Amino acid sequence: MQLKDSSLFRQQAYIDGAWVDADNGQTLKVNNPATGELIGSVPKMGVAETRRAIEAAERALPAWRALTAKDRANRLRRWFELMMQNQEDLARLMTLEQGKPLVESRGEIAYAASFLEWFGEEAKRVYGDMIPGHQPDKRLMVIKQPIGVTAAITPWNFPSAMITRKAGPALAAGCTMVLKPASQTPYSALALAELAERAGIPKGVLSVVTGSAGEVGGELTSNPIVRKLTFTGSTEIGRQLMAECAKDIKKVSLELGGNAPFIVFDDADLDAAVEGALVSKYRNNGQTCVCANRLYVQDGVYDAFVDKLTAAVARLKIGNGLEDGITTGPLIDAKAVAKVQEHIEDAVAKGARLVAGGKPHALGGTFFEPTILVDVPNNAAVAREETFGPLAPLFRFKDEAEVIACSNDTEYGLAAYFYARDLGRVFRVAEALEYGIVGINTGIISNEVAPFGGVKASGLGREGSKYGIDDYLEIKYLCLGV
Ligand code: ADP
Repeated sequence: MQLKDSSLFRQQAYIDGAWVDADNGQTLKVNNPATGELIGSVPKMGVAETRRAIEAAERALPAWRALTAKDRANRLRRWFELMMQNQEDLARLMTLEQGKPLVESRGEIAYAASFLEWFGEEAKRVYGDMIPGHQPDKRLMVIKQPIGVTAAITPWNFPSAMITRKAGPALAAGCTMVLKPASQTPYSALALAELAERAGIPKGVLSVVTGSAGEVGGELTSNPIVRKLTFTGSTEIGRQLMAECAKDIKKVSLELGGNAPFIVFDDADLDAAVEGALVSKYRNNGQTCVCANRLYVQDGVYDAFVDKLTAAVARLKIGNGLEDGITTGPLIDAKAVAKVQEHIEDAVAKGARLVAGGKPHALGGTFFEPTILVDVPNNAAVAREETFGPLAPLFRFKDEAEVIACSNDTEYGLAAYFYARDLGRVFRVAEALEYGIVGINTGIISNEVAPFGGVKASGLGREGSKYGIDDYLEIKYLCLGV
């Protein structure tokens, strides 16, 4: 591993300020998805180690929440700076374990770090309220306090950003956190823990437990010390975790699956729409929960859009993300490849036509050709299910009402995109789409200053923005008799 600072590559878990192995010495192997090579291993921990991390978080809580917001903010700021100073090493680690091109990894590190900066600043603006009393002898007040010990479970598609988007607001608010990162991408998480320690985050405030999802997750959801769980991942696992949290009435924040429609109206700027579709669909090789999953293109511009998108996709350069000029890496694993193939076969069987890609890439492994399907019928599986891969299925539509109905005909409601220039249409469509996020004439919507989150089966709560810290705060009402 060629890192400038080799101590960022940690193969132990971080619990209560110490680097530790599993009690039984078991490990999980971590492989590079671009080459299949072994990168290293991490401890395969279970219930006992998770419980120790939770108890450490409980011990660390009183002193952490008692710090001034400014003090916590200064440490988060330092953590942000350390991330940026080590951006290149963190990006390399991410590309090695996740597969995304270095340019995307560098971007993610900056994006991830921005949540630490942002929420450190927000920590100082957790205001209360004075409420005009309902009786002459009463004074009513509201204060906001940290929820307490929190737990986070994060996915592999954004190995750093999904952590800081949770740990940033949690620590800013005065909560402590136990984190279980995805088993495919633990090194990004462990490097963040190393930097957190250097930034002055006290022991126990943030622990990182690697290991068995079921065992670690089970303890995080069943231990009554944990007052809140925040999860990013599939709707299926989110539903299960929420049910587990019901026993203690733990609070939950969930960022789950999406099925993003990407709509191109007749009056759209077609070149801009093609660029938007390209980044929205193929970024991270289609492995983001806000990736365009279904592209609806209006009749009048359909053929022109197909030609332009096909030309744009031909420019993508597939390969090992560590190499120069690569735009698109491998898929995370063989299961991901199978899902893309399943969606292609299903759509083709129902009448869709392939105009680009369609099969595993000649590079082998989990590389897959960027694929475009046209004339996809509405009964194709891809209309309902998230592909999470480099497949752009194009549906043809006639009018606004029809495309809004199709777009909303899903259990999901995370991100939607549309391209149009008519101002009345822009407002009508933006209001009618049942989604938490709507990108209008843009394919990129994520940043730390805006609220990210879904409706319906796409989740609960918002991350980032001035709203994101609320998910880690309790409102307390004080009623004072005078
Ligand atoms: P994906 O399909 O994107 O991998 P998952 O929902 O399967 O999404 O995984 C997201 C995160 O949830 C990962 O950290 C994974 O290890 C964890 N996870 C998966 N299954 C469980 C489970 N039964 N309990 C707790 N965490 C789980």
